[in-house]
Amino acid sequence: MAGNITLTIIKPEAVAHAYTGDILRIISAAGFTIAALKLTRMSHAQAAGFYKVHLEKPFYRELVEFMASGPIVAAILQKENAVEEYRKLIGLTDPAKAPAGTIRQLFGETIRRNAVHGSDSDVNALKEAGYFFQVWERFDRDGNFLEPEEQVG
Ligand code: ADP
Ligand code: MG
Repeated sequence: MAGNITLTIIKPEAVAHAYTGDILRIISAAGFTIAALKLTRMSHAQAAGFYKVHLEKPFYRELVEFMASGPIVAAILQKENAVEEYRKLIGLTDPAKAPAGTIRQLFGETIRRNAVHGSDSDVNALKEAGYFFQVWERFDRDGNFLEPEEQVG
């Protein structure tokens, strides 16, 4: 069964351009509930760990530097089939190839500076959520603490 949460990051360039409000509005309008939210900044080591699946990729070093270059907004989003639904809402990695109206098409600048992160699987969504949020920082739409079973579906 598909999971109910995904992890997004509004990346440094999008936060710097004050796109946070517009992006969160689109997320909410698409039916996602914000289960957790914070403005923070990743250290170089944290960004390196977060993206370690891409260690061998030619873009890894610059990606890590970019993600640690300024404040980000991290959020856990809740919706049925959250991972797939959110990937649809953000569009393809390259904003130039992302469909019209998607978050990356609207706010992305380049394939690296592409406005937002979205988890690519339920397992990674849970792992990535744990990177930024304690379990007591996660809430359901009624304001109650998010139960573990609500996070996996
Ligand atoms: P996605 O974020 O769509 O899941 P990936 O997981 O493949 O994409 O890549 C992680 C991030 O690395 C991308 O969001 C983007 O910021 C950066 N990236 C991906 N491909 C490239 C590339 N060819 N050149 C520069 N940066 C890239
Ligand atoms: Mg990815």
